Amino acid sequence: MEKYVGYRCSLCNAEYLPGQVTYTCPKDGGNLDVVLDYDSIRQKFQPEDLTSRAEPSLWRYLPLLPVPDPGGEGTMIRIAGGTPVFTLERLAAPLGLEPLWLKDEARNPTASLKDRASAIIMARARAIGAEVVVTASTGNAGAALAGIAAAVGQKAVIFAPKTAPQPKIAQLLVYGAKVMLVDGTYDDAFDLSIKAAQEFGWYCRNTGYNPFTAEGKKTAAYEIWEWTLGQEKTINHSPLTIFVSVGDGNIISGLHKGFKDLLTLGWMEKMPRLIGVQAEGSAAIANAFHAGTEKITPVEANTLADSISVNLPRDGVRAVRAARETGGAYILVSDDDILRAIADLGSLGIFAEPAGAAAYAGLVKAAQDEIVKPEDPILVLNTGSGFKDVHAAMQAVHEAPVIEPTLEAVRKLL
Ligand SMILES: *Cc1c(COP(=O)(O)O)cnc(C)c1O
Ligand SMILES: [Zn+2]
Repeated sequence: MEKYVGYRCSLCNAEYLPGQVTYTCPKDGGNLDVVLDYDSIRQKFQPEDLTSRAEPSLWRYLPLLPVPDPGGEGTMIRIAGGTPVFTLERLAAPLGLEPLWLKDEARNPTASLKDRASAIIMARARAIGAEVVVTASTGNAGAALAGIAAAVGQKAVIFAPKTAPQPKIAQLLVYGAKVMLVDGTYDDAFDLSIKAAQEFGWYCRNTGYNPFTAEGKKTAAYEIWEWTLGQEKTINHSPLTIFVSVGDGNIISGLHKGFKDLLTLGWMEKMPRLIGVQAEGSAAIANAFHAGTEKITPVEANTLADSISVNLPRDGVRAVRAARETGGAYILVSDDDILRAIADLGSLGIFAEPAGAAAYAGLVKAAQDEIVKPEDPILVLNTGSGFKDVHAAMQAVHEAPVIEPTLEAVRKLL
């Protein structure tokens, strides 16, 4: 017995039973939404049944997840999610905003939000008896899969562009995955990984292809919901506005799915506004949003934020809808805006990779353009750690002076 009813195509609404399809809609290639058995969940559970659990990781939401418990006690598949929320008071004041929070996904086990998806994919892989799991990745999805696979003793194959930041490649290799660096773009790695999965019978995790990745990412929405329950004084009746960076569009779609689950269950009253932030040089989804269409036209991606550098976003349609259906927006930021945001967040002790800082850069722009109002409660998602791309971090700051080991030299610099 599966823990979910089936799938619904996001393009043609065709419905499929759990055993009928594995990845995208056979008719039109549309992304599939996993459909939960909402009635049965509603009958069996109250929100308190979940919020009172001692389990701090994303597995506290097991009744709302379409996978069985994967086991793996004492390994890091058990600790994905459960990330902290910080207040950003010192950054909020100059922007004329209050309150402002940041949820720090860099604190996941392999240091990005992708661990949420990889934990669910691994649970699914175990449920269907898959021996090898493969993914294309700009780096983080691969690291998340490789790390969690290593932890539970599963085989992983990763295709990443050879231009991926060195720390991410190091992570893949140290976790012992079979790593193939593709002489091409992320998009080339994506297409190749699908062919290889078909050829060699591997289970494919690809973002915006495997319907279970969004089911992992939606757990960030559940955590945000649960956190707002404790914030009633500050988030009194205006909905939360959430800023998230967007590449393939699967994180923002996953957040949207998570909140829709909660609305369908009657556990949440107001849908938060979802604001997607893209790099000016990789703006296919924002372009579609601003053109008032769902048709995604590929771009030649060029941004230092490698995690959101995508020619053809694989979850573009749902990502456009996530903003459109929640009264949200799309915002574009330059690489300079992103570097400034890395330094700004750093000044509060938060170390973000470029794609993570992009969300905050988007907020700065939204405040200037009055897309958010001073009293709007705002939460920014930092999706990945600054340790993932040290080269970019160094571009965001001034170099440290090298000095003679004398007090005189110190005095000169003071
Ligand atoms: C993957 C990733 C994103 C973008 O997620 P999409 O689902 O591709 O839109 C943003 N930030 C970081 C750090 C990521 O790893
Ligand atoms: Zn379809």
